[in-house]
Amino acid sequence: MSTTANPPAGPSGPGTKPRPARYRGRAALSPSRLKDFLQCPLLFRLRTIDRLPEPPSQAAVKGTLVHSVLERLFDLPAEKRTEDAAASMLDPQWEELQAAKPEVTAMFAGPEDLAGWLAEARSLVGQYFRMEKPDRLEPAEREMLVETELTSGILLRGFVDRMDVAPNGAVRLVDYKTGKSPSPRFQSEAMFQMRFYALMLWRLHGTVPARLQLVYLGDGRILSHDPVEDELVAFEAELEELWRRVARAVEHRTFEPKKSKLCGWCSFQSFCPEFGGTPPEAPEEGMRRLLTVQAV
Ligand code: SF4
Repeated sequence: MSTTANPPAGPSGPGTKPRPARYRGRAALSPSRLKDFLQCPLLFRLRTIDRLPEPPSQAAVKGTLVHSVLERLFDLPAEKRTEDAAASMLDPQWEELQAAKPEVTAMFAGPEDLAGWLAEARSLVGQYFRMEKPDRLEPAEREMLVETELTSGILLRGFVDRMDVAPNGAVRLVDYKTGKSPSPRFQSEAMFQMRFYALMLWRLHGTVPARLQLVYLGDGRILSHDPVEDELVAFEAELEELWRRVARAVEHRTFEPKKSKLCGWCSFQSFCPEFGGTPPEAPEEGMRRLLTVQAV
């Protein structure tokens, strides 16, 4: 759930023109925050309601850096979208990132650590060119902010990495991942985010995207899915049920910890009863803000 009252202005997309006044100042469901809730309600609470600060992680910042290069790559004319051109964007994009978030420099033990990390980012950018041919693509949108309100009054919000529109009008939504692709057991879970975007686009424009595509730069695999209307109807009901669970947790003040192997990546262990910690009192203001997800 994004609880940003006013999302940052991104490139204009079909989801942002014009932005209805009733969306302003409201929290919204987003795929990443919903995933937090499914992983661990306490993690969700501390991140979304309490908004406790978290140190940046090398993996997440590398993802941001690679995404920004792949986004900017399409600013160039088609014939100049080469691997060398993309690689040359890494350093300036890294400098921009540091200027915006100076705390990221503290992630590195020293120059060698940073050099190794930049080399990994360069290799991921290089991998992209073995998976797609950017000189043959003309994205309709990049880093597209999409917002839509379901008939139930629930506000959805998300950023789509790329939207391609074929000459026949068929829409393809694409998301880049810097990690490795999931095993078949977890592929449906990985598509959660893309179904979320497909539902938003469908509810906004009445057209189901023809293809959803996850591009895993970590191992060079592409995961695709062609959604159908019935599936999105079922997905909408699933989201509404998930929201009811979140709203109940707010009402009863119950955000229980849910221990898993993912706890190793959690920044909140010192507040977590599973690790001997005690969560702070949940801020009332944060809970009120969260409940604005659903218009009354
Ligand atoms: S350490 Fe694990 S159980 Fe505790 S809040 Fe984090 S994810 Fe949840």
